[in-house]
Amino acid sequence: MSSAPSAGQRGRLSVIATPIGNLGDLTPRAAELLGAVDLLLCEDTRHTARLLAHVGVRPPCQSLHAHNEAERVADVLARLEAGSHVGLVSDAGTPCLSDPGARLVDAVQAAGHRVETLPGPFAAAAGLAASGLTPVPFAFWGFAPKSAGQRERWLEARLTPAPDGGPMTHAVYVPGRDVPGLVAQLETLAPEVRLVVARELTKLHEGYVRGAPAAVSAQLTPEQARGEAVLLVEVSAPIPSAASRVPDVDAEIAQALQTGADRKPFLRELSRRTGVARRELYRRWLELADEPR
Ligand code: SAM
Repeated sequence: MSSAPSAGQRGRLSVIATPIGNLGDLTPRAAELLGAVDLLLCEDTRHTARLLAHVGVRPPCQSLHAHNEAERVADVLARLEAGSHVGLVSDAGTPCLSDPGARLVDAVQAAGHRVETLPGPFAAAAGLAASGLTPVPFAFWGFAPKSAGQRERWLEARLTPAPDGGPMTHAVYVPGRDVPGLVAQLETLAPEVRLVVARELTKLHEGYVRGAPAAVSAQLTPEQARGEAVLLVEVSAPIPSAASRVPDVDAEIAQALQTGADRKPFLRELSRRTGVARRELYRRWLELADEPR
């Protein structure tokens, strides 16, 4: 005989957004619920302990992160089956969005348990709203790959105008230290786009650097390259194809050959700035060095 609990007995999973830098952004509903759950699943229990201390509550906590999410699912389902109220938070912002949790939520939904959302901070939306760029349509892509070569292909596949040909804004997450490299790459890949680097949102040093990629690059100070950032890229026309960009690289290599630049550091810097793989630049270097000048 089926032992499925009635709707009244069922447990529930609450997906709870938390601040991205300003504790004042925790909603009253989220604060109340953090103190009421039977179990709180945290991306990092030590990180969430600071938030819980601020609220003044001490729910039982367990970790749920990228490496144990799959294992946690069965246990959470059993708890929900038994009628528990389980909360899910990440280190900052909305769980599941470039954070753990989506696999668990899918399993809980599929099992027919109650799921509720407590909306709140989401860095991409917060940055977009304050950027002044076209807000609708927008696309959220999460983290860009770290390696310049992969990132070039990744950006090329994503940075498009809207399907109707109008402008569309793309939100990309990037650790602060990678901001200068990504902006430099956009200088070559998509020099015409409108770019906003939205930094340290809701924190003391919140700031926005706006302009075409070359202008943003010129304005970025080393301090601004630290901390957390969302890049917002408004694309109004298809970006230049890879083929049409090659001559730019060729021209720079030809000039470096003429001036006798030191090959290794030059190609390293050119690769960092353009996102073109170093071995490809090396191949062009050899070819151009052989050509009569
Ligand atoms: N789930 C989170 C959300 O709702 O936005 C995102 C978590 S993801 C692991 C962390 C990335 O989000 C950072 O590398 C940065 O790109 C972005 N981010 C988080 N907090 C931010 C802030 N205060 N200002 C700017 N970007 C932030």
